Amino acid sequence: MKAEIMSIGTELLLGEIVDTNASYLASQLPALGIDVYYMHQVGDNMDRLLEVFDRAWKRSDLVLCTGGLGPTEDDRTRMVVAKMLGEEMKVDPELEKELRAFFGGRGMSMPENNLKQAMLIPSSRPLPNPRGTAPGWWVERDEKVLVAMPGPPRELQFMWENEVRPRLRERVHGDILISRTLKVTGISEGAVDEMCGEFLAASNPTIGVYAKPDGIHVRIAAKAKSEKDAAVLVGPVEATLRDRFGENLWGVDDETMQSHIGQLLKARGMTLATMESCTGGLFASNITDVPGSSGYYKGGFITYTSEAKIAYGVDPALIEEHGAVSPEVAVAMSKAARLQLGADVGVGITGVAGPTEQEGKPVGSIFIGVDHEKAARGHATRYQMARADVKIRAVTSALFQLRQLLVHLDGT
Ligand code: AMP
Ligand code: MG
Repeated sequence: MKAEIMSIGTELLLGEIVDTNASYLASQLPALGIDVYYMHQVGDNMDRLLEVFDRAWKRSDLVLCTGGLGPTEDDRTRMVVAKMLGEEMKVDPELEKELRAFFGGRGMSMPENNLKQAMLIPSSRPLPNPRGTAPGWWVERDEKVLVAMPGPPRELQFMWENEVRPRLRERVHGDILISRTLKVTGISEGAVDEMCGEFLAASNPTIGVYAKPDGIHVRIAAKAKSEKDAAVLVGPVEATLRDRFGENLWGVDDETMQSHIGQLLKARGMTLATMESCTGGLFASNITDVPGSSGYYKGGFITYTSEAKIAYGVDPALIEEHGAVSPEVAVAMSKAARLQLGADVGVGITGVAGPTEQEGKPVGSIFIGVDHEKAARGHATRYQMARADVKIRAVTSALFQLRQLLVHLDGT
């Protein structure tokens, strides 16, 4: 099945919003065995919408579009689809009732503009949208399908998962593409590529090696009739690569470094405390993104000034001697956090987020300390990036350092 994806809204063309809907939908289609041939972004202009819809409908089996289902004048998706198919739009009494009930339930009367959200054409079926007011449209004609879904990502994703994907799964019978991503750290992209060796030339499964902020990702992708058949193809390659990467492999698929660290801490019955300077709490925020992190994360300090570092246990002489932005102070911060909160492991982060240098240290210099009773690590690195990116990279780097300490503490 050949599909094209269409994102509708002038906001997209002005660069005011990023088209995450298209990438979300595109990421969902390989597992259904649907090939995407084109993606478009079109503004809220009747003629241009009509042109793009017309072309898509003629050359593809499936057209997926998002946006333009709102109540305002510039939301034109329904009208365009009706016009393209030469069908008449009518208010559906059932949908109108539901829409009025939605507003009534919130103690409001429905603005008449919203009535267009209750419109249907003979070839369309409404797709319920419990997260908003705009129902989607499932349009079937001439053995083709067009699906119109709302723009707000949480509404779109809910409708996709609950209404659209199940229907498409029933219709499509081609090969599906299943992939498994192995996440590796501590080895360079080139070395990872070499370690994939003989698999790189294979056509099913295929291997892709990608450098990402959290390390190197190796994607093993197999095409097969069913998920089970695809798993048979992926399995042996995954097993061999796992063996080759050894302890450098830290996670698979959607797993994040912070959830992996949570598991390491839990498995060892250990707790964590943090002291952050240049990352201003971002590390703590990442750690607490993981549900259940209260089981191992005791808390932390944001010690932005030297006084604050000293107040929470960093030796002033160290700051005097090495500067607040130094590996020595990073290690002292990690130890101070650990002792203050009685945790097993401490992490300290200091550095120069920019845009101006500090204490003669260049912008992007990052120092990380990780401390445990039996082991301490200091790490220095530099990211030549904008301030916000330096902070993000500093957090990633600190997560890596923490992982290395935990993995090597007991040799597991
Ligand atoms: P619309 O239904 O076109 O009025 O879109 C409503 C809202 O959904 C927009 O203001 C955006 O915040 C969001 N939105 C629309 N299209 C997209 C898209 N392609 N990617 C991400 N967000 C979107
Ligand atoms: Mg819009």
